[in-house]
Amino acid sequence: MKIFLATGNKKKIDEMSKILDGSEFEILSIKDGIEIPEVIEDGTTFEENSRKKALELAKFTNMITISDDSGLCVEALDGAPGVYSARYAGEDSSDAENNEKLIENLQGVNNRKAKFVTVITLGKPNGEFYSFRGEIEGIIIDEARGKDGFGYDPHFYLPEYDKTFAEMPEIKNQISHRARALNALKDGIDKILNIG
Ligand code: IMP
Repeated sequence: MKIFLATGNKKKIDEMSKILDGSEFEILSIKDGIEIPEVIEDGTTFEENSRKKALELAKFTNMITISDDSGLCVEALDGAPGVYSARYAGEDSSDAENNEKLIENLQGVNNRKAKFVTVITLGKPNGEFYSFRGEIEGIIIDEARGKDGFGYDPHFYLPEYDKTFAEMPEIKNQISHRARALNALKDGIDKILNIG
């Protein structure tokens, strides 16, 4: 059975392939030369965006398709940047610009609680879909710490480790929002595809 991973991010393709490794699926992605149209992420929730990508591309490729949508939700900012995490400081904004805007908006704010969220959706060409959510809670700190990771990682601090995500890439890969959503998918996929 063929499964198409609908992401252009090669790190994500590797991460997802690893999780699904050892299964009987043939995992395909843009790395195999499959070209896909751009899907406009105009939803207001991670679920909507993730579902839209999975179903549009399942139809386009005629394959079972897995997509994801992620972001950072800050409690004191009413859940922002949320689905706008990649373009918080404007279209095509860099990680540094997004982080700068985030820290600026939190000046004088004591409540620094935040969470990363990922929603992964498995969509079928016939329109059926299954979504899995993974979350991890942390604290936003003003000072950037660590050099690994990407996005908001240098400001996302986990008190129980006394480190930011950017300071502990290996642990991040085990406990992150993305890992949690992927593991939920892994637990459910055989049943969904009736091969359990
Ligand atoms: P995407 O949907 O996974 O591409 O994530 C959208 C945006 O959310 C990214 O551009 C980052 O700004 C942010 N983001 C998502 N996951 C992470 C993460 O694991 N670390 C830091 N930032 C993240």
